[in-house]
Amino acid sequence: MTDAQALVKTLDFQLDIQSDNEGLLYDATLEARSVYNETIRLAKQGVDWDAIPDRVADDANLVKNTTQRVVAKALGAMENYYEYDNFGLPSHTKDGAYPLRANYEEGYNLSLTDNGDVEFRISAKPYKHVKGVLKGSDAHLDILQTALTSDEWKIGTAEALFHSENAELHVNLTNTEQTVRDKQDSRTVVGVDVNEDNVALTALSEDGIEDSLVIDFPEIKFERHRYFTMRKRVQNAGKDSIHDTLEGREERFVRDRLHKVSRHIVEWGRQFERACIVFEDLKEMRDSIDYGTRMNRRLHHLPFRTLQFYTSYKAAFEGIPTAWINPEYTSQRCPMCGHTERANRHKKRFKCRDCGHQDHSDRGASVNIAVKGIKKHQDWNVPALNSLPQVRKVRRRASGAVDAPTVTHPTARGHLADGRLEVSD
Ligand SMILES: [Zn+2]
Repeated sequence: MTDAQALVKTLDFQLDIQSDNEGLLYDATLEARSVYNETIRLAKQGVDWDAIPDRVADDANLVKNTTQRVVAKALGAMENYYEYDNFGLPSHTKDGAYPLRANYEEGYNLSLTDNGDVEFRISAKPYKHVKGVLKGSDAHLDILQTALTSDEWKIGTAEALFHSENAELHVNLTNTEQTVRDKQDSRTVVGVDVNEDNVALTALSEDGIEDSLVIDFPEIKFERHRYFTMRKRVQNAGKDSIHDTLEGREERFVRDRLHKVSRHIVEWGRQFERACIVFEDLKEMRDSIDYGTRMNRRLHHLPFRTLQFYTSYKAAFEGIPTAWINPEYTSQRCPMCGHTERANRHKKRFKCRDCGHQDHSDRGASVNIAVKGIKKHQDWNVPALNSLPQVRKVRRRASGAVDAPTVTHPTARGHLADGRLEVSD
């Protein structure tokens, strides 16, 4: 990981198409789907990835540069699969629309009109354009208008897509002036331990532990298991299209939840003086041979990198840097005396075989992650830990979203047994 973190933002707009050819844009998203499928198919066949863009571009009825962007995204999905098994092997038989990804001033263009509207021109097919005006929230339009008139923002790739039958454009911007604080210049290090059904957070400064928190999200685990079973069932019955629909629904559900959890992490981290968020580096985790079944299980059960990416992206917007540490022994080490042994941990319970210290295991792991973060990235010392604050838990509550499951509790809303708080979105 490099020191500098780009400050990027994605703005969502609705397309008010005025060139009377909305069908052209939809056709282009179907063509993008074909490009995606073909890329995945070739990659599965073992075709050299470098050769895929040209092979696919020859047959695609899209602007060449746009084809390349869609191919790159499909290969990204394959790479994700090989590295992290996030959502299973990508399918090459999906139908329906796929986002049309385009480079600014190549596949699409934006311009400001005299009355302050932002006009778009998307090259849906070679020499065929879709034109109109962007509609969206004032906040997003404001930023885009600024981006079009100043050097503060650089306009990047965009995706044209259909969401509930409405045409949308999602534009990526990079801020060239506002920087994320140097991670070595932090006063508090927030260790984040990501698990299948929770994240544990600990904020550590030179003075000791500032606070720690466990955010439970059992519904993600529950829903992923539920979808997994359903998908297996329809797959066995040979109903691939239903399988793909379920997969899409699961992805949307998980992403929505992960966005909310990541927002929560950043909100919590913001309260501390010059915070730096520290994660376990998953690459190092995969590369080393054996971190025990816990790690293996974790790798297969949660889209970790997605949560890290969302958190780091949202943190960057608050000027909060992200850092990475090697995950070795973070779950086995006693945060009080340093004794490291696998037997210290039994599921969610931690009991040090040397000093007898007892803790919630994931909270303990988040302390160790913070400790490693200080050692690796800060020039101040790890404080001596004589006692840890009581573990505080909050439980994310399912909101009324259509895809959301019902989470039931025996206790009234607002408070749970053992002092846990519920949080609504
Ligand atoms: Zn100990």
